[in-house]
Amino acid sequence: MEIKKERRLKNIPTKASEKYRNFPMVPRVVFGNGSFDQLGGILMPKRKHSEAPIVYLVDDVFEGTNLAQRIPNIFCDQIIFVSANEEPSTLQVDSLVTMIKENFQDLPSGIVGIGGGTLLDLSKAVAILLTNKGSAAEYQGWDLVHKKAIYHVGIPTISGTGSEVSRTTVLLGPDKKLGINSDFTTFNQVILDPELSKGVPKEQWFYTGMDCFIHCIESLEGTFLNAFSQSYGEKALELCKEVFLTDIPESESRDKLMMASWHGGMSIAYSQVGVAHALSYGLGFILGVKHGIGNCLVFQHLEEFYPEGVAIFNQMMKKHQITLPQGICKNLTDTEFEKMVAVALGMEPLWENALGENWKCIITSEKLISIYKKI
Ligand code: NAD
Ligand code: ZN
Repeated sequence: MEIKKERRLKNIPTKASEKYRNFPMVPRVVFGNGSFDQLGGILMPKRKHSEAPIVYLVDDVFEGTNLAQRIPNIFCDQIIFVSANEEPSTLQVDSLVTMIKENFQDLPSGIVGIGGGTLLDLSKAVAILLTNKGSAAEYQGWDLVHKKAIYHVGIPTISGTGSEVSRTTVLLGPDKKLGINSDFTTFNQVILDPELSKGVPKEQWFYTGMDCFIHCIESLEGTFLNAFSQSYGEKALELCKEVFLTDIPESESRDKLMMASWHGGMSIAYSQVGVAHALSYGLGFILGVKHGIGNCLVFQHLEEFYPEGVAIFNQMMKKHQITLPQGICKNLTDTEFEKMVAVALGMEPLWENALGENWKCIITSEKLISIYKKI
């Protein structure tokens, strides 16, 4: 794919002293089947003293499983099982922080998130709010966090969101769905153990995997593209095609999707997502539709913006016999459609990335409503 236009990132307010963004990256990462068992050794030097626990936030799908048994739960550590049925919210972060502060005299030595994007985002936000005063909602936005977070570790158990590498944690707040974007959000350590993603149900595997595929398409087709994003985006796209369009063995597919997620996340760090994500945020905010499936619901109707991407997406759907639900928006009132459109149009950097500086001349409320009505 050819680089259309190299330009400075506009998606994030840049500090006056920075011509180019100076991004944090995950400083330490382990990769490999069974690497989860190294967690105890990795945490040991991070433990401040026996009263400062490690708090594990774990997807409740693992409650009572062998994985829960393997968590190095020692001294006064605490395991908190959390449901991923709903996407993380600022209220949920606040109540977890209050609970941890009430349970322990000292701040934890570390927070470990085990699960998909929901649990990873929750862990990042809890780690930030343990050292920064007030409610999580006060930090939704760009570079509003001033104090370093508690040491935090991310362990994905389903692949696609790229949350394991990103400097954001997306939260549903009282009046918006928006990330806490900050240098302190990024994990201090990630453990990539593809075996942990063994039991993921097929539909969910597809939806979360497509989040990664759509990150690639939106980044590679966007006007913010630069060689940094392109190099990661192309690799992630190649891996997605192998995983979703060829018949590689399952274990290889798990390894590859985990690395695709990583590269897809890196690709959007230095660019931006696009039309599908903007519209999906609207669906998520008004109807509570989750990120992965929401992106798929929208993306199927975006031939006009991403013709090649949608054609590949359709092939992938067919190969895996995925049927998306229909009629999601059929009972919505005009006011609800308008709200959804307002949320979508509010994501200005996404539109600018997708359509260029003059996006406001191309995209109208009617256009967006007509797409929503197809869903
Ligand atoms: P998820 O974490 O919501 O999990 C989806 C489902 O899969 C849940 O039911 C969960 O219990 C189940 N699951 C997870 N691992 C499993 C396993 N090994 N076996 C069986 N079931 C398993 O899904 P997701 O798509 O990874 O995350 C979506 C969230 O990620 C959204 O909240 C979205 O906003 C966020 N997100 C964040 C970023 C970021 O950069 N921070 C990027 C994209 C998406
Ligand atoms: Zn996404």
